[in-house]
Amino acid sequence: MQIHPPSELDRLGDEIAELSAHLDAATARLLALIREFDARGGWNTGFRSCAAWLSWRVGLDLGAARERVRVARALETLPLLAQALAHGELSYAKVRALSRVATPETEVRPLAVGRVGTAAHVERIVRGWRRVDRRAEARESARRHASRALRVYQDEDGMVVVRGRLEPEVGALLVQALAEAREVLYQRARVPEGADGRGNASEETPSLAQRQADALALLAETALHHGLDPGAPGERYQVVVHVDAPVLADPEQPGQSVLEDGARVSSETSRRLACDASRVVMRHDEAGRVVEIGARTRTIPPALRRVLQHRDRGCRFPGCGVRFGQGHHIRHWAQGGPTTLSNLALLCRRHHRAVHEEGFQVARGPEGALRFRRPDGRALPEVPPPAAVPGDSVEALRASHDSNGLRLNGRTACPGWLGERLDLTWAIDVLHPLAQGARPRRSSEQGSPPAHLSTRA
Ligand SMILES: [Zn+2]
Ligand SMILES: [Zn+2]
Repeated sequence: MQIHPPSELDRLGDEIAELSAHLDAATARLLALIREFDARGGWNTGFRSCAAWLSWRVGLDLGAARERVRVARALETLPLLAQALAHGELSYAKVRALSRVATPETEVRPLAVGRVGTAAHVERIVRGWRRVDRRAEARESARRHASRALRVYQDEDGMVVVRGRLEPEVGALLVQALAEAREVLYQRARVPEGADGRGNASEETPSLAQRQADALALLAETALHHGLDPGAPGERYQVVVHVDAPVLADPEQPGQSVLEDGARVSSETSRRLACDASRVVMRHDEAGRVVEIGARTRTIPPALRRVLQHRDRGCRFPGCGVRFGQGHHIRHWAQGGPTTLSNLALLCRRHHRAVHEEGFQVARGPEGALRFRRPDGRALPEVPPPAAVPGDSVEALRASHDSNGLRLNGRTACPGWLGERLDLTWAIDVLHPLAQGARPRRSSEQGSPPAHLSTRA
């Protein structure tokens, strides 16, 4: 019904649509880069996750960063959606929504929804789709929950057999606890490194299954000892380390740095453990006899720790911000560093290890701000400088798409919708493989498990 020639406003609208298509096409490239960076672990330079790195480096809020990484990963197995985005045919918003329900097997249907529907249709269909998914998931999870079990019985030879099925999150808890218990036991039992110890070590090293059994015993013992009280995070486990004062002050110095039962730990580790710990100073005479034992003190008194927590609020490592942490002495107390607010910084366990054992450095600049450096000495700023952008970024984008043979215009991303009403029930029924399952199933569908029951949150 176009009677008038295109007005200036129409052209403005076309330009908006065309540029949006260019941005969507560029977003496809961006997601491909993120996917590769993520897969190759490029973020693993002190950051907890690719999303944390992205948030730090690009300035996205953490939620948006997580979503980018999720979509980037999802598109790896969804080539049709990835291509539609790269060609500027589907907007990032549509692809993002559709990637929540699409699977490699069913990708064609969500793609069709994206092509035909408006962004609002896509949103509604994806929500309806996920309701069907969620109902299936809820049934599945109820079934799993009901099947949880732990059986403990005695075998003929008197050994006790443990057999069970745990829900995934309980299982993860158990696996983590076993791993930590194993580490504690293994470190205690480790033969000191040296030519003599090595020969016998291999034949006496217990198998993983045997170490798991020992770890379970330690877990039971520990749980009972603490009256089954999980305790505050900081108290959940403690390590006793004996370390000679000169070693604490200078890791190069000879001297002992051992756990309670004699297993050696690196001097860097003992410096980390001593950073924020209970400390008992003992004096020995030349023959090694203890001649004096001081009172147990916290290296960081509780009141100061509270102030520190209040000031730093969480881990100060760039891009981290985990709420709970340990007080790190920027200049170690064993080297004469004072236990004062200005010499302390809160770091999470992961990043406390990074600065003590992984070569990351932290110092306080003249104006009081913390300065972190990577092991190779490069600065790790709290907010990285923005990337260089060519003078006319829109022209550059257009030119680069042109040179790749990508011709975009204001109609590229237009949905095929002609204005008819969206019948959601019908749409889901036609599109969703499980919704079809509500009707009598064809025999060909029964063999394979529903593919979309993977772990989608
Ligand atoms: Zn420290
Ligand atoms: Zn941290």
